Amino acid sequence: MSANEDVIRPSDAKCDEASDAEFSESPSLREWIRRVVWFNFLYLVFFHVGYILSIITYVFGLYSDPVKWQTIVWVVFLFLTVGVGITGGVHRYWTHRTYKAKLPLRIILMIMYSAAGSYPIFYWVKDHRVHHKYSETNADPYNAKRGFFHAHFGWIVQPRHPEYLRRGREVDMSDIIADPVAMFEKKYAVELRLLLCFGLPTIIPILCWNETIFHAVLLLCFIRYITIWNATSSVNSFSHIYGSRPYNKSIGPTELPIVSFFTFGEGSHNYHHTFPWDYKATESLFKHFSLTTLFINACAKLGLAYDLREASPELVEKVIRRTGYKSKNQ
Ligand SMILES: [Zn+2]
Ligand SMILES: [Zn+2]
Repeated sequence: MSANEDVIRPSDAKCDEASDAEFSESPSLREWIRRVVWFNFLYLVFFHVGYILSIITYVFGLYSDPVKWQTIVWVVFLFLTVGVGITGGVHRYWTHRTYKAKLPLRIILMIMYSAAGSYPIFYWVKDHRVHHKYSETNADPYNAKRGFFHAHFGWIVQPRHPEYLRRGREVDMSDIIADPVAMFEKKYAVELRLLLCFGLPTIIPILCWNETIFHAVLLLCFIRYITIWNATSSVNSFSHIYGSRPYNKSIGPTELPIVSFFTFGEGSHNYHHTFPWDYKATESLFKHFSLTTLFINACAKLGLAYDLREASPELVEKVIRRTGYKSKNQ
């Protein structure tokens, strides 16, 4: 793995040197610190400290210049597009192939995803496929059995468990390797992140409507970036620990409508782990309002997305009766 690809992603190389015994589920603080991937840790701490200071600045009105309304519209626009780039792009399209997308849509999704400043599509997909197949085991990169903190934050600043490496090698990534859009993004991940997550989003308000550098940096680089980062992580943490399990009571993922609110429809996680190929990622758009599903529906109407896969109500009811804990109508 080149440095260019290893963007905010624990090094696999480090795990190769480690034995399973080194990865106890609850390491001592000393052991945890010894294992820390320092670049990732310092990077995330820097942005989280900046985020907290930014929130304090706005809550207590420490900067007198008002934010321009165009900047607020811009921040909301980026929240929506970047969020859907993660949920509708790297998650429901590239990882689970819940629908097919034509080249222009794949390029748009790649741009939207890059603006999130996450790590390359290739590795996101690999991690998430392993997560689904080996959920809540040592192979699961965000194994919630290791605690809330590990599932939310710790997994990204610690080396991979050796079991993840073994299982990760078995994951079929041929579809991603065959996708020139995903492979282009992998090759230029750092450049795309700098340009689309930090550069353009921050410079556009300054150049186009004379926003102050202060507001542009605080709102775009810290508040927007870290809010989306935590919203995404909440699916790995909250949605594997708290909430109900109506579709399959024997698995960890849960139903949490509040997570759907912050992730544009990803909080129906018990449903999603039960029917990962369903493009809606929920049974009830009412309970789990999904901007992502509306976006995919709109793309289908425009002819950019097609072959949308979904579970029939009969199948859902059957599965609830077999593995869930209640009737759908209760
Ligand atoms: Zn999950
Ligand atoms: Zn998934």
